[in-house]
Amino acid sequence: MKKTVHWLSIFVFALFSCVCVFAQTPYTGPLFDAHLHYNEEAWNGKLGPHNVPDVVGRLSRSGVKAFVGNSRPNAGTITLAASAEVKSAGIKVVPFIRLYRNRADYTGWFADESIYQMVLAEYAKGTASGAYKGIGEFHLYDSANANGKVAKKLMRFAQDKQLAVLAHVDDTAIDLLMAHAPQARLIWAHTGIGGASAERVRSLLTKYPKLMGELSYRPGLTCDGGQLCPEWRSLVLDFPDRFLIGSDTWVNQRWVYYEELMTGYRTWLGGLPADVASNIGWRNGAKLFGLN
Ligand SMILES: [Zn+2]
Repeated sequence: MKKTVHWLSIFVFALFSCVCVFAQTPYTGPLFDAHLHYNEEAWNGKLGPHNVPDVVGRLSRSGVKAFVGNSRPNAGTITLAASAEVKSAGIKVVPFIRLYRNRADYTGWFADESIYQMVLAEYAKGTASGAYKGIGEFHLYDSANANGKVAKKLMRFAQDKQLAVLAHVDDTAIDLLMAHAPQARLIWAHTGIGGASAERVRSLLTKYPKLMGELSYRPGLTCDGGQLCPEWRSLVLDFPDRFLIGSDTWVNQRWVYYEELMTGYRTWLGGLPADVASNIGWRNGAKLFGLN
């Protein structure tokens, strides 16, 4: 009898736990994709594999209503910004100037004056969806290069023009970049893809009130049931105005799984209080770039 009660209580506990995990309703509001690339291999100037109608379909089915667009080269962003299909789907483009004309630029941009000149020229032209709102994404594989001559100039340019900066860097480089332009609006792509601890992220968010964290590829973000791990849950609850979600469609495979990526975000957003979910899913990005 005793044994029966024991197993029964385990069964009831297990059932209750399952209900708790599966009872989370996914977030159903609009999404702001803060890290979208439309690189040349996604469309090859026109046809695909992911031509504009394909991209619009994926975003629409995912409930993405606005995105930060940047691409190698900038022609991809310019195309999306001018697209009648994107506009008629009710999707807003927030264009960023990419620093890369080709793959070789990834590793030398921070010291390449011709890239600085290209950014100035691109900024002067703007897009059919209006002025550029940011620069990046750029990468620093060695944080010391944050002190490169062009890196410094670009941070100051962004600060002067009130452009956001999307940076794929480590935590050391955040300090170096912010030292160049303390008033710049830095969006930390992946919020530490190398695995900076949640405590280190917390201290940087505290130190730099304008720093935002974009969460694609962030290691250790989600745990059981696709929900946020405890330390990340407490971080986003403490800084509900500072995080963004993103697809990071840096290779075509990310386009193939675009809808699954967004479903993954909706799963853990659904485990948060509704106002925090809508901040991270939509409002933080919308507010940052003056959308409704
Ligand atoms: Zn990226």
